[in-house]
Amino acid sequence: GTPKYSGMVEDCCCDYETVDNLNKELLYPSLQELVKTPFFRYFKAKLWCDCPFWPDDGMCRLRDCSVCECPESEFPESFKKPKRLPLNDLVCQEGKPEAAVDRTLDSKAFRGWTEIDNPWTNDDETDNGEMTYVNLQLNPERYTGYTGPSARRIWDAVYSENCPKYLSQESCQEEKILYKLISGLHSSISVHIGADYLLDEATNMWGQNLTLLYDRVLQYPDRVRNLYFTFLFVLRAVTKAADYLEHAEYNTGNLNEDLKTESLIKQLLYNPKLQAACPVPFDEAKLWKGQSGPELKQKIQHQFRNISALMDCVGCEKCRLWGKLQVLGLGTALKILFSDDGQENLVQPLQLQRNEVIALMNLLNRLSESVKFVHEMGPTAERITEGH
Ligand code: FAD
Repeated sequence: GTPKYSGMVEDCCCDYETVDNLNKELLYPSLQELVKTPFFRYFKAKLWCDCPFWPDDGMCRLRDCSVCECPESEFPESFKKPKRLPLNDLVCQEGKPEAAVDRTLDSKAFRGWTEIDNPWTNDDETDNGEMTYVNLQLNPERYTGYTGPSARRIWDAVYSENCPKYLSQESCQEEKILYKLISGLHSSISVHIGADYLLDEATNMWGQNLTLLYDRVLQYPDRVRNLYFTFLFVLRAVTKAADYLEHAEYNTGNLNEDLKTESLIKQLLYNPKLQAACPVPFDEAKLWKGQSGPELKQKIQHQFRNISALMDCVGCEKCRLWGKLQVLGLGTALKILFSDDGQENLVQPLQLQRNEVIALMNLLNRLSESVKFVHEMGPTAERITEGH
């Protein structure tokens, strides 16, 4: 285990050991199965970059990132409503070939579910025409070769959004929740890069990079703590929405698979072991205590939407896919946990849309994978790296 992390996870009611055990025995195995089901393996996203920031560097500005330097009067009439470029022909694509999204879909289709916009994200989720369906199973989150100033710029902007003083390295106490959530997500992304890394390009050999795991995450205990915090935050959202999730439609037209989906969902929502060991995995009421609920909600919502908008500027398609999915997942968790006023009074009945539920459960699975990897490989990574 990771003895460094003992005691209670911050703002929570479970200790690290309990979380590790519950995850290993219960959450991780069910989630791994769940995300493979037809309902959960397709995600709808607006994938091309449409970045409103950094207009001067010519990257990622226009839809499809095609850069046009001529004045509009010179446009042939037929160009004025430009047809979309082939999606694999994005000028702004950075990173290596492994950064591209595999768009192969099989014939499994969806049914049902209302289309409503999520106020926590920048994308208009009701807008179908601009969306592509992606089979997540074909696009694992792992190393993509996306690094350097452009990736760095996104993270800096994300952190600056909830802490204006971030870049001047002054400490920032305000909006700690949002900071911890983002930092936990960032840790999780780094863990996935370290867990599945291109070790040798020439032979296309993939494997673990434990030095990277140490350098980017383990070396900073806060980043590990934030990962656990985010995991429990999202888990709490899932259990809080249990009533809704239990009765949602998981119909994809494949009876056997859909029955399995429903039973896995119930297994996750109503597990006596989970309820006994960690009844309320996260106490959101404590977080809002002493603060003005509606005001805090508005402020965080505003910041979170801006973070969501930044995902359009991620210059690597697969990173953008997982960035958008996980930000929507976090947005959905926030939506659920802010859906009452802290006194268990529902402000309005909770409504989720299909894509939000898919994002939420896939995010929980990613965090569960990261927690498991850190727990299992952490000590080895520390030994080999600190021994140097
Ligand atoms: P970065 O990870 O870029 O970190 C930048 C700075 O942020 C660090 O120097 C540190 O000051 C701070 N920081 C780092 N981690 C934390 C933390 N947990 N909490 C608080 N602060 C922290 N690359 C891939 O290979 N595969 C992917 O799927 C992928 N997805 C991405 C998704 C998004 C949305 C973004 C913005 C980037 C993604 N990247 C991905 C790129 C990857 O996250 C790194 O940016 C890149 O690997 C370069 O890493 P780095 O060592 O320079 O530090």
